Amino acid sequence: MPRSGDELTDWFFRQFLAVLRTERVRVVRKKRLVNPDDPHRRVIRGLMDPDVDPSGRWVQILINPSRTTHRDRDEEMETLVHELAHIILPKSAERSILTIETILARTLTRAQRDCLKAFLPRHQVKHYPVSIPGAVATA
Ligand SMILES: [Zn+2]
Repeated sequence: MPRSGDELTDWFFRQFLAVLRTERVRVVRKKRLVNPDDPHRRVIRGLMDPDVDPSGRWVQILINPSRTTHRDRDEEMETLVHELAHIILPKSAERSILTIETILARTLTRAQRDCLKAFLPRHQVKHYPVSIPGAVATA
């Protein structure tokens, strides 16, 4: 596991990997990602949606793949870090999550970034993905 030498950075990195390696998180790159709760349907850069499964067993992280939103996969990875921070610190306010994201964007090493980037899929989806992995379809 790549390390930065900074204990707090490495703690976050370990937590993120633990979350990403569980079955309960799925990362999706969604075209024209908008906030589903926004009546103006404004485009957003990322979303952590814990409501996909009413039982709360798994969450979906949606990333906007548009190059006007994220210049490259490194910037997509920073949004992934933001959404992961929401998962491991569920009670923290948006401001605190933004602070953590800003700090980690500076302190994560190249190897750590590449490791997190590997969890970003290459393909994009058009529609809001709602299917639950492992769920049995009832006809
Ligand atoms: Zn946020």
